[in-house]
Amino acid sequence: MDLLDTLTAKGLRGETPTREEALAVLATTDDELLDVVAAAGRVRRRWFGRRVKLNYLVNLKSGLCPEDCSYCSQRLGSKAEILKYTWLKPNQAAEAAKAGVSGGAKRVCLVASGRGPTDRDIDRVTDTVAAIKEADPAVEICACLGLLSDNQAERLKAAGVDAYNHNLNTSEGTYGDITTTHTYADRVDTVQKAHGAGLSACSGLIAGMGESDEDLVDVVFALRELGSDSVPVNFLIPFEGTPLAKEWNLSPQRCLRILAMVRFVNPDTEVRIAGGREVHLRSMQPLGLHLANSIFLGDYLTSEGQAGQTDLDMIADAGFEVEGVGERTLPRHRADIAAAAAGGCGSGAAGGAGGGCGTAGVPGEDADAAVGGCGTGGGCGPCGGHGHAVPVAAAADAAADTNAGTSADEVRTDLVRVRRRGAGTELAPNA
Ligand code: SF4
Repeated sequence: MDLLDTLTAKGLRGETPTREEALAVLATTDDELLDVVAAAGRVRRRWFGRRVKLNYLVNLKSGLCPEDCSYCSQRLGSKAEILKYTWLKPNQAAEAAKAGVSGGAKRVCLVASGRGPTDRDIDRVTDTVAAIKEADPAVEICACLGLLSDNQAERLKAAGVDAYNHNLNTSEGTYGDITTTHTYADRVDTVQKAHGAGLSACSGLIAGMGESDEDLVDVVFALRELGSDSVPVNFLIPFEGTPLAKEWNLSPQRCLRILAMVRFVNPDTEVRIAGGREVHLRSMQPLGLHLANSIFLGDYLTSEGQAGQTDLDMIADAGFEVEGVGERTLPRHRADIAAAAAGGCGSGAAGGAGGGCGTAGVPGEDADAAVGGCGTGGGCGPCGGHGHAVPVAAAADAAADTNAGTSADEVRTDLVRVRRRGAGTELAPNA
């Protein structure tokens, strides 16, 4: 089909499609779905080969948040029966991180609930980063601590943090429907603060909150314009006890279309399948690997994922391979841009630990890539999100009308498991 030929050609050149083309991907039918996956899969392989980057979540502080993000199980007034605990000690966090790294993760994501960190919280994270890097200096660390104040990003960078996650979550136009205690502009400001301090920007979205196709395209283009190096795509986990508990709007086919659209708009950017992978893609997860080049290993912030070994088996069975510590995540031209923002170290020698976002050079890996330009459970990271407020049902109807062949998902509360192991518990982590 002409659309897919055009999108593939643009993606192979590292070019971004038009908004209309992105919307057309979301409007494809189930009959066209495998062709869509194949086309976006060519773009994925062009820039990322068959590598899958594994990331591991450590929830440093769980629940009891004063913010009201309606998708989040940790929100103000949440009745979700999640684990609630205050800051892990550095050695506890390092133990959890070690489990993820041993399982194959090259990035550890340190997440804390809350509006944003205090300066004392930055001290805590600094000590935690030191403990993790003492055990393994090569591990990439991404922090996800909420809205940043002046100089906090610089302090995290100095502490050895490589990246900062702060998701835009949804379009600017609908942001006020999901959260009232902070704004879309606040979120953009924090992503820019992180980027400005030389941290690799990780910022993504949550799908399934009742948003329209236009909202999805808006936020994905906004992320591209912000220069996010990695784009986590969360699929709303409608937690019981949150405002969006009844928002089951996603089918596996819809999730694949969304991932394909995100890939076409961000051909050379890390695209990560985040929270909700098991709940919504289910047995179609391996097809998602043809679109995304990154996933979380094991559990999420407040919900449990499938067994870490099952993640690894799935990657191998689908013909992909886990990205190694010495391999660069981003294509060379994107890594150079990220490194320039970080003040150096771009596509350095293989195994180099500098720069955010896995910018170590990989000899021969991407010699052909010189063409085009360059958190999880609850909201702050790859949460186990929850969704929207008012316009949900109407938007879902509109989406169903638009997307021939797409049906809303059935309610599958049986697939939502609150995390009861790992960080904050006496039980071993799932990694
Ligand atoms: S997404 Fe973050 S800021 Fe919002 S309620 Fe959840 S923990 Fe709090």
